[in-house]
Formats: sequence, C-alpha cells, structure tokens
Amino acid sequence: MKSLCVDGDEENHLQKLIDLIRSKDMDGGEAWSAFSAPAASKTFKRGEADSRTFDFSPVERATYKNLRQRVQNHLFNKCAGSCAYCRRPVGHYGWAWHIEHVLPKSKHSSLTFSLDNLTVGCVHCNQWKGARIDRYLVGKILPIINPSLPGFIYSAHLTYVQISTDSLSFAKYSHCSPEGAKTYKELSFEMLERSYAINGMHPPLASLHEKIERAIGVGLSAVEGQGLAELLFELKKSIYKLN
Ligand SMILES: [Zn+2]
Repeated sequence: MKSLCVDGDEENHLQKLIDLIRSKDMDGGEAWSAFSAPAASKTFKRGEADSRTFDFSPVERATYKNLRQRVQNHLFNKCAGSCAYCRRPVGHYGWAWHIEHVLPKSKHSSLTFSLDNLTVGCVHCNQWKGARIDRYLVGKILPIINPSLPGFIYSAHLTYVQISTDSLSFAKYSHCSPEGAKTYKELSFEMLERSYAINGMHPPLASLHEKIERAIGVGLSAVEGQGLAELLFELKKSIYKLN
C-alpha cells in the first residue's frame, strides 16, 4: 500500500501500523480499524483485564483517511467496479462494497496493508467468506477462487448471466472448476440468484435488501459492529429462507 503514499510522511504513518502489527501490539483487525476508521485514540480490549489504547495525531489520521480513499479508487478501477467474487456491480450505483482482504487479516496480519492482497468484495461475498472461509482457513491456499493470484482468470472458474429489466431480474451462475464450485456453494451464490429473482418481482423488498446490505456493510467496517452485522445477516437469511 506504500506505493499509493504521496510522500515519506505518509509512508511513516502507515509504517506505524505495520510496526504495531509486527510487535504484536495490534492484530490485523485492530490495525485495519485504526486505518479505516481513524480516531484520536483507539482502544482495543482483549479480555477483561487487557485493554490497550493507541493515540493518533491529526496528520496521521488525515493520512489514513486520504490513503484509504486512494486505495478504494485504485481497487475499484482495477476491478472495473465489480465484486471480485460474484462480479456484481458495486459502488454508487451498485451494491455496497468493502476493501476485501483475500487472505484474511485475522490469519495473515502481515498482509493487512499489502495492496496485492486487497480487492473489491460486495457485502454479500464479504460476509459469507468471513463466516465460512476465513474463519477456518489454515495456510495460504483458499478453497474458493483467489482473485489475487497472478494470471487469475474468472471465467476459468465461474460464468454467469445477469439480466435486469423493469419487471424482471435474473441471475444464474455456472462453475467450471473445483474452486468455482466451492465459491458458488460457500459464498451462497444460490442466495444471490434467489434475491435477484425475488427482488425483481417485488421492488419494496429490493429496497429493503439494499438497506440491510448497506447496514451490514457499516457494521462490518468496525470491530465493534460485528454483532450488528451478524444480526442483520440472520435477518437477510430469514427473508430469503436459506439456512
Ligand atoms: Zn460479491
């Protein structure tokens, strides 16, 4: 991510977080929270008695805010405005999205600020990947598609048709590799297909769906918001009746 810093000061501000990870004063999630939701001081609790507070100067906070925007723009352009996993459009006129750590920062904290490990993930894929893949990952080989691998070609794993008109929405994915099949199953693309069809027939539900996705997105971006995100995720599953 240092390649997107504009000067040595910004590099130093970013290095502060990298060093805190290296010294194990912060884990990847905490450092990412300090970066993506900057504050004058951040306190992280690891149990009842272990609470750590870190202070950040105004210029450090400004660096994190500006650099995050640059990273977002870089990834959005690199991914042509679509989720790296489901390829749905994201952004202002599409679905809510996140800066996604391909190898999870919870398991590979040294890659938290590595640009090569970052991509665009919609809220749906981000949520399912966190729950079903990241939590159980051992090592660096993902069982699903890895869009950050050199030479990665999406269509070698998954193909899809997405059609939307005024009164109809339709999406269907097909997989053509073991990683593609695993992506379809574990990231619950069946729910995506279902939500396309149901939302297309019932616009108010589509609006509710989008609101829930955006709220989940807000919850996911903060360490403290995980509980809210999980609650909304359960609500979404109950609407589309998937277990
Ligand atoms: Zn997606």
